[in-house]
Amino acid sequence: MPTIAQNIADLAARLPQGVRLIAVSKFHPAERLREAYDAGHRLFGENRVQELVAKAPQLPDDVEWHFIGHLQRNKVRQLLPHVAMIHSVHSVELLRLIDKEAARIGRAIDVLIELHVAQEMTKSGFAPDEALSEITPELVSSLANVRLRGVMTMATFTDDMEQVEREFTLAQATFEQLKDGLQLPSFDQLSMGMSDDWPVAVRHGSTMVRIGTDIFGPREY
Ligand SMILES: *Cc1c(COP(=O)(O)O)cnc(C)c1O
Repeated sequence: MPTIAQNIADLAARLPQGVRLIAVSKFHPAERLREAYDAGHRLFGENRVQELVAKAPQLPDDVEWHFIGHLQRNKVRQLLPHVAMIHSVHSVELLRLIDKEAARIGRAIDVLIELHVAQEMTKSGFAPDEALSEITPELVSSLANVRLRGVMTMATFTDDMEQVEREFTLAQATFEQLKDGLQLPSFDQLSMGMSDDWPVAVRHGSTMVRIGTDIFGPREY
C-alpha cells in the first residue's frame, strides 16, 4: 500500500502547474491528516461542520481548511472562524448570511458558488441559468465581507465519462460567463474534479481538485 505522502506526491506530479490539490479528509481521523501535513500538505477539505471544527484544533494553524459540504444556516457562525474557503454556497440567502457573520467577526471569507450540473437531484447548488441571473454585480457589490472567488461543481456519480465531460463543459462555460458578467479580478477559481474524474475536470479548466479516496484510501462510514 502506498503511503499518504506517496499518494500526494504522485498526484502533485500529475497535476498541471497551478492546479491546487485539496486533500478531502472527511471520515479520516486527525492522525491520518497529520501524515499528509508532515509530508508538507496544507490544504484540507471537509464536508461536515462538526468534523471540521473538531479536527482544526488538532492540526497546526497553517492548515488551510476548505468547506465542501452542504452548509446549513445554523452552522455558519460555528464554521467561519476555522475556514479559509467555503466551496458550497448554494443560495443567495446563504451568501448574505455568510457576509453578515463574517462582518461580525471582522474578517473576509473566500467563497465559491456551487453549480448544479449533475443529474442527481440530491446534489445542491444553482442551476447554471439561476447562477447567471442571481449572481449579479449589484449583489456582489452589496457584500463587503465575502470575496467571490469562482465556482464549484460535482459531476454525476457515473462511469459514463462522456456525461461527466458534458457536465464539466457546462460548468466551465457558466464560470466563464459569470466571470465576464461580474468583471471581478478575484473571480478566478474553478473547483471541480474528484478521485474518479479529476483528469476530465483539469482538461476543462479546473484550478482546484478535491481528492479523498486516492490520497487516504476508502472511507469508513
Ligand atoms: C467526498 C468529496 C470529494 C472527494 O471524493 P473522492 O471520490 O473520495 O475523491 C470531493 N468533493 C466533495 C464535495 C466531496 O464531498
